[in-house]
Amino acid sequence: MTDGAQAGRWWRPRSLRTQLLLWLITLHLIATVLTAWFSFEAYGHLVHNALDDQMQLVAESYSGSDQPKTPRPMDGEAAFSRGAYIVQIWSADGTTLRATSWSVLSVPLQPRSGFSDVSTGSHAHSSWRVFTAEPGPRADQPRVQVLQNEDHRRRRALRRALLEGLPIALLLPVALLILWLIVSAASRSLRAVARDVASQDERSPTELSLARVPDEIAPLVGAFNNLLSRVRSAFATQRRFVQDAAHELRTPMAAIGLQIENLRAHVPAGEATDRFNQLEAGVTRAQHLIEQLLSLSRQDAPRRTTVREPVDIEVLLRESVSQLMVLADARRVDVGFEGSITSVVLAPAAELRSVFDNLIDNALRYAPEGGVVDVRLHEVDGHAVVDVLDNGPGIPEAAMGRVFDRFFRVPGAAAGGSGLGLTIARTAAERNGLRVELRNRDEGPGLRARVYLPLTAG
Ligand code: ADP
Repeated sequence: MTDGAQAGRWWRPRSLRTQLLLWLITLHLIATVLTAWFSFEAYGHLVHNALDDQMQLVAESYSGSDQPKTPRPMDGEAAFSRGAYIVQIWSADGTTLRATSWSVLSVPLQPRSGFSDVSTGSHAHSSWRVFTAEPGPRADQPRVQVLQNEDHRRRRALRRALLEGLPIALLLPVALLILWLIVSAASRSLRAVARDVASQDERSPTELSLARVPDEIAPLVGAFNNLLSRVRSAFATQRRFVQDAAHELRTPMAAIGLQIENLRAHVPAGEATDRFNQLEAGVTRAQHLIEQLLSLSRQDAPRRTTVREPVDIEVLLRESVSQLMVLADARRVDVGFEGSITSVVLAPAAELRSVFDNLIDNALRYAPEGGVVDVRLHEVDGHAVVDVLDNGPGIPEAAMGRVFDRFFRVPGAAAGGSGLGLTIARTAAERNGLRVELRNRDEGPGLRARVYLPLTAG
């Protein structure tokens, strides 16, 4: 990855939620600052003008008479904190301060009448807004001057501006919460789609529901559904091909098997018989492969609702063993069955047979000539299990993870297999709530195939 791409990722978080929240916070902060600034400017003028007007009115209420009323005395607290107007009554020539509401303040009568700004020191408190009333019509009339603390006026405008910005600032957490909820709902529906996708059976994918998908995501899900339907039809074509091919091969293969059987009596002893036996084994193997392919393609077909019926597992296992007795006899393998359970197994019988037929068939084929295969029905840690044990070579640990793959055969495994038996067994097991576990036996050579059974109360 380039540095630029890394930097890009740093600045732009991958989560849409974080991106939206960051943008929203930034925009809100900008809006709050702009509103506060704008209202500070606007309200500053407004407050300023209103206070100026009031000052002028106060001044006018004192001026205009020969003996203006005496201003009410006040203190510094009123001047600074409450912004009270300080009234000064000067002699007509402006040299003597006759009366004032706050004698501490020493601001002389301003030479020009009207508004002016005066500072009595460097402190923020020492700036004053001053209104000096026009001299009266007669020369001996006293002069009036009204003052107000400038710092108080500024604070008033600022407070007003901040109050204007406050609703926007308060809106931020609410907006964040709403956005959070909206994005969470959207990502929940995305997660639901992802769950839908994850739970798909890869051999027969079904359409994803568009019901709760946001409009922006709908085209993506639509395109995905389109792809799924193409995958489905590709699988169906492949399945049909395998099924048709296996089906078409079945009859001629059976005919060849019969012909071979009829020929046996006419084959001369010696090398010809050896070759004949090999031919017969090849045909048997091909017939087995065709049967396995047919089972596989049936498993791959979209699931029909299978009836889960109570199964007498003991009877089912005995049937499976006795059906494979021909193979056991041919290989002189000693097959034994033992055990029983009290609980009832609830599953489709045909599917259970498929699991056990394949496991017992493997045990019989991989056990050495004259070997031993045991089928045991018992309980382990309170769980009903079926163990199929043989004394064959077992499976190398490195190949354990792959033996359930289609057409996988352990290199050097005895001839005669198709690499499909375990795939068929596991697929049938999984879709009926069974679990198949393979492990090499601790007590000697051989494999233990264990099936955990789904039970109902016994
Ligand atoms: P196959 O038709 O070749 O037996 P399976 O899918 O049944 O196909 O088994 C896959 C591979 O696992 C086999 O080729 C074999 O190497 C190994 N395997 C299966 N069962 C046993 C067993 N009981 N003992 C030893 N190896 C086994």
